[in-house]
Amino acid sequence: MNTSREQYVREVFVREDETLLAVRQSIRDADMPSISVASEVGKLLSLVVQMTGAKRALEIGALGGYSGIVLARALPADGELVSLELLPEYATFAHENLKKAGLGDKVQYRTGEALDSLQKLHEEGQRFDVFFIDADKVNYSNYLDWAIRLANPGAVITADNVLQGDRIFDEGEQGESVVAIRAFNQKVASDDRLESLLLPFGDGLVIARVK
Ligand code: SAM
Repeated sequence: MNTSREQYVREVFVREDETLLAVRQSIRDADMPSISVASEVGKLLSLVVQMTGAKRALEIGALGGYSGIVLARALPADGELVSLELLPEYATFAHENLKKAGLGDKVQYRTGEALDSLQKLHEEGQRFDVFFIDADKVNYSNYLDWAIRLANPGAVITADNVLQGDRIFDEGEQGESVVAIRAFNQKVASDDRLESLLLPFGDGLVIARVK
């Protein structure tokens, strides 16, 4: 999305409250990467959870808890967010931010390689209504397979950064994340079990419904 459109949408439709602004600041203060979702993507995630009446959400990639707060807030009081994060220190940091937001009991963090955590969730028979994929790009297609396996009927799968700063359009760009995201986008779009769309805002968000 070009900057003036982005600014307009943010000014008119997306207002980050004190809690979310404080999370972004805490991430900068801790010298963690400033790669939380764009505010308008966060707003969309919140709408998806509320519009679908989702009770259980699964996030892959926690960082400092920004998207975790957005998702957990949108879930009903008896809802649950499971958040997968490679680094234990990030999961602890994110959990602190969710506790400060009054959401500490609504989230469960699982640390280590997300692929291992997903296998475990499957063995436990866990199912989810909304998925947010936002971790290492090379595994997006694997995360999609797992999400479909762990999905309740009608579940919604979302994935961030699917434009890779528009590098996916540059044929000369063969970096592994870009190549993996091109393959992911094709896979989502052509899977008969899904109805999907790529929304070209933020850094691009794929949204898919499991039929
Ligand atoms: N969703 C977060 C938000 O918007 O607030 C941002 C997530 S950040 C873009 C990506 C996160 O994925 C990082 O915290 C990183 O440590 C984590 N990550 C990277 N590779 C991973 C893996 N193989 N398994 C689990 N988490 C991973």
